[in-house]
Amino acid sequence: MPELPELEVVREVLELRLLGRRIQRVTLAPKGGPLVVRDLTTRGFILGLAGESLASIQRRGKFLVFRLAPSERFLVVNPKLSGRLQLCPPEEKKAGPVHVVLHFGDPPTELRYVDAKTMGQVYLTERLQDVPTFEEMGPDALAISPEEFRIRLRAFRGEIKGILVRAPFIAGIGNAYADEILWQAQLHPFRKRTSLTDEEIDRLFAAIGTTLRDATVKVRQEMGEATHLKPRDFFAVHMRAGEACPRCGTPVSAITANQRITNFCRTCQPGGLLRGMGSAR
Ligand SMILES: [Zn+2]
Repeated sequence: MPELPELEVVREVLELRLLGRRIQRVTLAPKGGPLVVRDLTTRGFILGLAGESLASIQRRGKFLVFRLAPSERFLVVNPKLSGRLQLCPPEEKKAGPVHVVLHFGDPPTELRYVDAKTMGQVYLTERLQDVPTFEEMGPDALAISPEEFRIRLRAFRGEIKGILVRAPFIAGIGNAYADEILWQAQLHPFRKRTSLTDEEIDRLFAAIGTTLRDATVKVRQEMGEATHLKPRDFFAVHMRAGEACPRCGTPVSAITANQRITNFCRTCQPGGLLRGMGSAR
């Protein structure tokens, strides 16, 4: 579930609190640990991490990348739909099922990987290109120029929402923020990419920047240092079916396709007829 704005704020908090600190030890939950941990080294996950310090903490799309020193290995977290990171003192209540804990000292601090569905992955690797799908990622959604955006978009076909969430196009956008971006751009999520005019593509590019930057500011305010939270109270349409569109007051529509919900405003985002009409509200 975490997308670019949430992960960016998590990264900022972790950088502030953990940069340069040494991992004293690592614990894995007997059940969930082996499900989420992928050791791509020959060292072993726990041995490869213990005693290392966090030399940098970066975000790339929906991955968090911790560079370790002195080994120059990487700890890579891909939380996918259900993973979260909880940063807290050891006595704090678990935010959910905890699978991996990195223990830091002075003051005692835990970085916990929490995942109710064990869908995410935590990798230890010597080379980032060994992490599945990492190399296939396109540019970060906040680090692409309008020209590059237009050129890359030409290579992708299908519905515009489906393209926005594809990491090989641009990285960092998932189901929730795709709905918010398309509402901001006033484009129907099921419009075919080939039907978009140049003006609409410019509007879409602008909406990506506006939506993700504004959301990052709001997430920063609401999350504070509680990195396991997912503040989303400010969404305009995503998970707001039946509520009034903040722009025009029309009740927000919901269509479920491929087990994913899409929310949009029929008035502000016209067109894109037919698909999934049976479940439209
Ligand atoms: Zn509207």
